[in-house]
Amino acid sequence: MAETASSKPTVILVGAGLAGTLMACSLARAGHRADLYEKRPDPRSRPQEQGRSINLALSVRGIHALREIGLAEEVLKSSILMRGRMIHAANGEQTFQPYGKDDSQALHSVSRAGLNLQLVEAAARQPSIHFYFEHKCTGLDLRTGTLEFHNNTAHSTVRVASDFIIGADGVYSTVRSQLQKQERFNYRQDYLSHGYKELTILAGPDGAFRLEKHALHIWPRGSFMMIALPNQDASFTCTLFWPFEGPNSFAALQTEDDIQAFFQEQFPDVVPLIPTLAHDFLHNPTGPLVTIRCQPWHWGERVVLLGDACHAVVPFLGQGMNAAFEDCTVLSECLARQADRRAAFAAYETLRKEHLDTLADLCIDNFLEMRDRVGSRLFVFRKKVSILLHRLFPRWYVPLYVMIEFTRIPYADALRRARRQDGAVRGIVVSLFIALVVLVVLLTR
Ligand code: FAD
Repeated sequence: MAETASSKPTVILVGAGLAGTLMACSLARAGHRADLYEKRPDPRSRPQEQGRSINLALSVRGIHALREIGLAEEVLKSSILMRGRMIHAANGEQTFQPYGKDDSQALHSVSRAGLNLQLVEAAARQPSIHFYFEHKCTGLDLRTGTLEFHNNTAHSTVRVASDFIIGADGVYSTVRSQLQKQERFNYRQDYLSHGYKELTILAGPDGAFRLEKHALHIWPRGSFMMIALPNQDASFTCTLFWPFEGPNSFAALQTEDDIQAFFQEQFPDVVPLIPTLAHDFLHNPTGPLVTIRCQPWHWGERVVLLGDACHAVVPFLGQGMNAAFEDCTVLSECLARQADRRAAFAAYETLRKEHLDTLADLCIDNFLEMRDRVGSRLFVFRKKVSILLHRLFPRWYVPLYVMIEFTRIPYADALRRARRQDGAVRGIVVSLFIALVVLVVLLTR
């Protein structure tokens, strides 16, 4: 195992995606040498597809982690502020629901490919970080810490060993799959019956945004929905969440006429904005949506998991990447505090696991909210009341959504606080109602 001048061990990170590259930057700052192995080609050598890259909602937890490696301002500069949800009713009516009290409580739409490139470039500026692209991890011997990679360009097998390995290889993690072979490793994956398909609304002929630029657009339709996030080039990436099977599903739409008719009925305002709609629908892939839970997240002092590799969530709170970035913050803090790596890994897992389990549940709940409830009058009324309460009593009442997106309160703590607040509000409303009834009775007597 190689040692750096500061005698800190070399860390091997599997996966140079969002969490892997950010973690490498953080480790380099702490004096480690970090070797990143990634199965895909170097993003710096590929031209970025304009307007076709999917985008992600970045919020406070992610921004904090980016700030710690000095990259937040650069990323925010290339993002688009989304101040709230724009709800598109079936009759074409649009209603804007702000996320919070002002622009400090807004989401940022970032391009996934663009962000990954910014992170790779930031990591490459560190002399102690080394990239090995087109190296696909195919195995890990936990006993010796030996990783096996297939080098896609040389068509050869490469073996490297380390006492400190981070599995940041995403939802279908190879590193995790090796841990799964160990005794008493818990693993659970739950697929939604819904999948997703992306479509693009291109910029107008004059380069203008064809929908409100500073909003996350939602077309709630009961059992399914579509959303759209703005891109820097004035396009929007739409994501349709719809069941895979059944009479009303991806499987049911087979011809261009079926697709056109479905969109005309459900999303009439979108049809003129995507001239190649039926073609794109038939050619763009349909992706699955999965929640992954596992435990433990580490193996002794040798291997630890990060991001989607240990806790993939469905994307309805826009928190997967933000939570993965927050993992990097917490793991770095634990490593800085504890000289004993096993204890640092265990502390990281203890600090994160409960909260990521809560996030997984909240994400599924938010799916129901986005597809079923955001369009209802009662929902809109409740949102308005909660934002008003937050404005009037910003310290006492903070809506759950605000805590998740715009604070760094751990997810399970946020949920507990939201339940306490709602209980108190219910108590006050009931007391006021009883007082009113008593008053009316006294007055009428
Ligand atoms: P990844 O970003 O997946 O990175 C893993 C890396 O490992 C990849 O580069 C991959 O190529 C590499 N890799 C995989 N296997 C191997 C191997 N065997 N060997 C070597 N390398 C390997 N999150 C948000 O915060 N906001 C959002 O708005 C949001 N929207 C989403 C929308 C959709 C439709 C989906 C599906 C997800 C969304 N997410 C969102 C979640 C977010 O994409 C993930 O949580 C985030 O990418 C996790 O980062 P990661 O680094 O753990 O994994």
